[in-house]
Amino acid sequence: MQNLANSGTIRRLLEEAGFSFKKSLGQNFLINPSVCPRMAEAACSALPAGQPRGVLEIGPGIGVLTVELARRADRVVAVELDQRLRPVLDKTLADFPNASVVFADVMKLDAAALIEERFAGMEVSVCANLPYYITSPILMMLLESRLPIRSITVMVQKEAAVRLCARPGTREAGAVTAAVSYYAQPEILFPVSAGSFLPAPKVDSAVIQLHIRKTPPVQVEDEAAFFALIRAAFAQRRKTLVNSVSAALPADKASLLQAMEAAGLPPDIRAERLSLEDFARLAGCMQKNKV
Ligand code: SAM
Repeated sequence: MQNLANSGTIRRLLEEAGFSFKKSLGQNFLINPSVCPRMAEAACSALPAGQPRGVLEIGPGIGVLTVELARRADRVVAVELDQRLRPVLDKTLADFPNASVVFADVMKLDAAALIEERFAGMEVSVCANLPYYITSPILMMLLESRLPIRSITVMVQKEAAVRLCARPGTREAGAVTAAVSYYAQPEILFPVSAGSFLPAPKVDSAVIQLHIRKTPPVQVEDEAAFFALIRAAFAQRRKTLVNSVSAALPADKASLLQAMEAAGLPPDIRAERLSLEDFARLAGCMQKNKV
């Protein structure tokens, strides 16, 4: 098979299939030939050596990343929503019997069951050039379902990369930063320019890697309450923590301030200054004081 990551090849394959890009599905296909080998290498080398390697891909498009993964992993299963890509993928993956495609919406799929069925006895990682309209929901679904995966290597918008990989307690942090840090150790691998895609998006991108933690870095009694607090804290990030949280949760300001004092937090602090440990301590104090 010819080099797929090439705008001429992609246009021809898509023309033959009568395919037109759907912006609503985040269809920006990679045409920079150096990106997919680097992503595939990063995803596969994050898996332990000497054991069969499986990679779950989300949104294969025409299969440009899929073939690079199939060259390095023992098995690749790619989940694609757009059925119109079936005839294209039949062609591009014809030489890769270890790669298969499941046509489904990744957000509606039982990912745990799929991993159990297709990757039994394998070490598994996730790799994808994510559809940008659902970057955070996909990442949160993968992390919160506590799938038996080692790492997640994904292309996201540059701004999202900065937020996802920020350290809690810094200006770049948001609710998603705290959630990512709870489940994984994030790392920005390399930047990718907008011109690397067809059609070119308006913004640059970056490839990030999330190394899944075996245990969270903080102890939390009620995870649902902990994450509800974090979302409420960042709901109005320009406001102080007490104002943002009391506006979003059924928590009155006076009791919230008491819980903050018990957690050693000043009354005028903003969400972006809190570390994961601060959020865990505050959630504990709120639970104790029944805020
Ligand atoms: N991997 C290809 C590449 O790098 O050229 C395509 C990446 S493109 C940014 C995102 C892909 O995700 C598209 O093929 C799109 O159809 C697919 N997609 C969008 N929403 C999806 C969903 N909910 N579930 C599965 N695939 C989805």
